[in-house]
Amino acid sequence: MRSYTLIAPAKINLYLEIIGDRPDGYHELAMIMQSIGLADQIDVRSLSIDTIRVHCNHPQVPTDKRNLAYRAAELMATQFPDTFAKYGGVEITINKHIPVAAGLAGGSTNAAAVLVGIDLLWNLGLTQSELEELGAILGSDVPFCIAGGTVIATGRGEQLAPLPNLDNIYIVLAKYRSLEVSTAWAYNTYRQQFGSTYIRDSASLTARANAVHSGSMVKAIANKNVVDIAQKLHNDLERVVLPEYPQVLQLRDVFASAEGVLGTMMSGSGPTVFALLESQQQAEAVKQQVRTAIPDEDLELFVTRTTTHGIKIASSV
Ligand code: ATP
Repeated sequence: MRSYTLIAPAKINLYLEIIGDRPDGYHELAMIMQSIGLADQIDVRSLSIDTIRVHCNHPQVPTDKRNLAYRAAELMATQFPDTFAKYGGVEITINKHIPVAAGLAGGSTNAAAVLVGIDLLWNLGLTQSELEELGAILGSDVPFCIAGGTVIATGRGEQLAPLPNLDNIYIVLAKYRSLEVSTAWAYNTYRQQFGSTYIRDSASLTARANAVHSGSMVKAIANKNVVDIAQKLHNDLERVVLPEYPQVLQLRDVFASAEGVLGTMMSGSGPTVFALLESQQQAEAVKQQVRTAIPDEDLELFVTRTTTHGIKIASSV
């Protein structure tokens, strides 16, 4: 039986702007996504019987069809029925390190790893763009998670354009274990509160997305100017999540006043809040400062850094 072990990195959003509504019910977005070192490990192996099995060491993660990794395997089986019949089933083992329902694309990166793993397992030879197209069927963040790095994502998040790599920014992540924010709730609430300001005609939607492409955050990234990047952090969803979740607001405030923090922002629909720093030493010191300011065992803190890759093969047998 062949098997692959894959590294599936989480992401943060350096920029998230909600531009308008789309006919398919999703939002039209302009995002700058960044892969980070915090990652899950995914084992994908062939099974002699004709079935899909998922195991996960995290009690909150379902192992049935609700799991995005399961759905990724199912999609590959339906897209390539002859290959599925030839190679048999797939067993997926998820070793979770990324906090769940955190705004860090944990499920999406697991699904991306399964697409890459099965492509290898079944010798399909799919291109990156073919894998991204399959990923878009599973979820808006899945295409980004395949190649990862620093990327500008438009449309519903599936139209990707790579930006220069950022590989030396240190990050502290903070998330309350028991606090979850539903992504659907965040976007629907945003629509209810700010829908009247949405751009409606398609020419203006395109113009807005193009403005982000040539905007100040992209320039800061092109110049690899960490201080400037940290000042340009933006996330529209903070407008609905921060007033509703005082714990998230408190994390923002504690990070903002910690020594050495260049910038702080909520990632995606939250509730994870991150801070950007110039060195690992500063990041460790900020982690300690936050731990002292909020001595709550429910609060998880991680030090990590930006990374230039998405799904990576760790080993194969
Ligand atoms: P995003 O940033 O893409 O919105 P997220 O980080 O907020 O994602 P996930 O960690 O992907 O959220 O989890 C969202 C929900 O999806 C959870 O309630 C979880 O039970 C479910 N889920 C399904 N598959 C997975 C998976 N492989 N890993 C984690 N959660 C999963």
